[in-house]
Amino acid sequence: MDKTDIIFDLAKILGCEARKDEPLSRHTTFKIGGTADAYIKVTTLSSLSAILKECEESDIDYLILGNGSNVLVSDDGYRGVVIRLDGDFRKISLVDDTTIYCGAGATLAALSKFALKCGLTGLEFAWGIPGTVGGAVFMNAGAYGGEMKDVVYSVSHMDKNGAMGRIEKDDLAFGYRTSVYRQNKYIITGVTLRMSHGAPKDIRAKMDDYLGRRTDKQPLEYPSAGSVFKRPEGAFAGALIEQCGLKGKSHGGAQVSEKHAGFIINTGRATAHDVKSLIREVQTEVADKTGYTLECELIIL
Ligand SMILES: Cc1cc2nc3c(=O)[nH]c(=O)nc-3n(C[C@H](O)[C@H](O)[C@H](O)COP(=O)(O)OP(=O)(O)OC[C@H]3O[C@@H](n4cnc5c(N)ncnc54)[C@H](O)[C@@H]3O)c2cc1C
Repeated sequence: MDKTDIIFDLAKILGCEARKDEPLSRHTTFKIGGTADAYIKVTTLSSLSAILKECEESDIDYLILGNGSNVLVSDDGYRGVVIRLDGDFRKISLVDDTTIYCGAGATLAALSKFALKCGLTGLEFAWGIPGTVGGAVFMNAGAYGGEMKDVVYSVSHMDKNGAMGRIEKDDLAFGYRTSVYRQNKYIITGVTLRMSHGAPKDIRAKMDDYLGRRTDKQPLEYPSAGSVFKRPEGAFAGALIEQCGLKGKSHGGAQVSEKHAGFIINTGRATAHDVKSLIREVQTEVADKTGYTLECELIIL
């Protein structure tokens, strides 16, 4: 019996959807990635706790995946259990007139729409970022001058032993595309957000404006993981890449987008190997020709 079969069987007993040898290309926006030994959609806190405890006791690795919109999964896949938060983890509720509680498995799109419906402003920037709320807190996702740190008040999580905890705003160590969760490896289960009242028509107008800008500038017709590189101090990654004549450069099925040089797109059959070698070439060329170091924003698993 394979070690991960223990988790697979437990997931079935707990009523969670579970699949063996699941291609992770189905669960990443890049549409790249080999198979995970087990892929489980966990729907309740008690199931999550039971699965994490069993992973710990049986020494099985696990990985939490949100919408897979900021990751590059290896062509060899993942030896262990991939966990996706579903069911209860997608619930969103209004706590008081300016406070929202959102499960970490909900999409940013669902959360932004909920805030609009409640007449709450502060999340317009998130409309169009194709991630989950858990992934967005982990990354401190941001755009158009807004970031998760501006609206997050506290975060609930579970540790590897299945115990719950909470971290308040001041201790979340938010920075440019980072948070305390990049170090502690806890699973974010839910987020409390404090927002301000706003006129729904103004909120809607901002959301439309931001989405329009994305559609104009980003190659949304191709699979990708968004901006591959962090913005270096004093410059823009896309502009530097373009300046080095790398727009359209490809390795196998991976290509520096012609529309937005900060994106690498999957033109059809890209492998993680193609993307990684293209990243290396871009980094080397940009460093040689401009002196700037491009650091990956994308998480390479
Ligand atoms: C077209 C496109 C446009 C994008 N535009 C932007 C943008 O404007 N701004 C921006 O910041 N990003 C952008 N991104 C990147 C991405 O959407 C964000 O970083 C998003 O927040 C990632 O969320 P996710 O759920 O997809 O996380 P994933 O990619 O699934 O995971 C990212 C990391 O978070 C961890 N993680 C996920 N969920 C949890 C959890 N519940 N608990 C603990 N760890 C967790 C994962 O293990 C992984 O290490 C874009 C991506 C695409 C494809």
